[in-house]
Amino acid sequence: MIDRLLGFVAPHHCCGCGKIGTLLCSNCEYDIISEPFETCVNCDRQLASAKGVCQRCRVAYDRAWCVGRRHDTLQHLIGHYKFTNAKAAHHNLARLLDKRLPQLPSTTVVVPVPTVSLHIRQRGYDHMLLMAKTLSKLRGISVSTDLERQTSTKQRDATRSVRIKQAKAAFICCRPLDPDITYLLIDDVVTTGATVNYAAAALKAAGATKVWMATISRQPLD
Ligand SMILES: [Zn+2]
Ligand SMILES: [Zn+2]
Repeated sequence: MIDRLLGFVAPHHCCGCGKIGTLLCSNCEYDIISEPFETCVNCDRQLASAKGVCQRCRVAYDRAWCVGRRHDTLQHLIGHYKFTNAKAAHHNLARLLDKRLPQLPSTTVVVPVPTVSLHIRQRGYDHMLLMAKTLSKLRGISVSTDLERQTSTKQRDATRSVRIKQAKAAFICCRPLDPDITYLLIDDVVTTGATVNYAAAALKAAGATKVWMATISRQPLD
């Protein structure tokens, strides 16, 4: 409702072409989705196998999907959502995930990578939880918030080795998980791959046996 009211005051512009009235027009959405993501989600180097990760990468999740590389339209949309309070972007981002993902088992549970609480306070919304809830509505599946962040050290400015160390201790699952259910971990940006990998490991440590991962974007290799 508030989004809609604000839309009248300050209309959204498409992050791809600038068209007024939406954060992502259907043409720009199509451009993103029609470009397949074929490299490894974890390392972005090798051609991915059917499970979305190359054979060299050992990861805790069993399958993975990525909407696209973090550049152009996708980068603007994510940046808007995370750093300039374009809360409405959760609809567009969840739709992109919905379009990229195959059919999922009906018992699948969506698990957002937990947001740092300082960032929730700064934005006024939990951007990952909003995305997870919207995706779960689109797919008619449920959301779990059992995965929690243990530390809230800022990752954005950290070096690669520091990021990997921080991520190792970052997550804990506060309830035992069902080994027969598929847990779909979702994230917005994969950079080194460490965060989603440790989040997936925390789900497995809590008893999950099927952990899949979907991310909106992957940071391109420099
Ligand atoms: Zn557009
Ligand atoms: Zn790889």
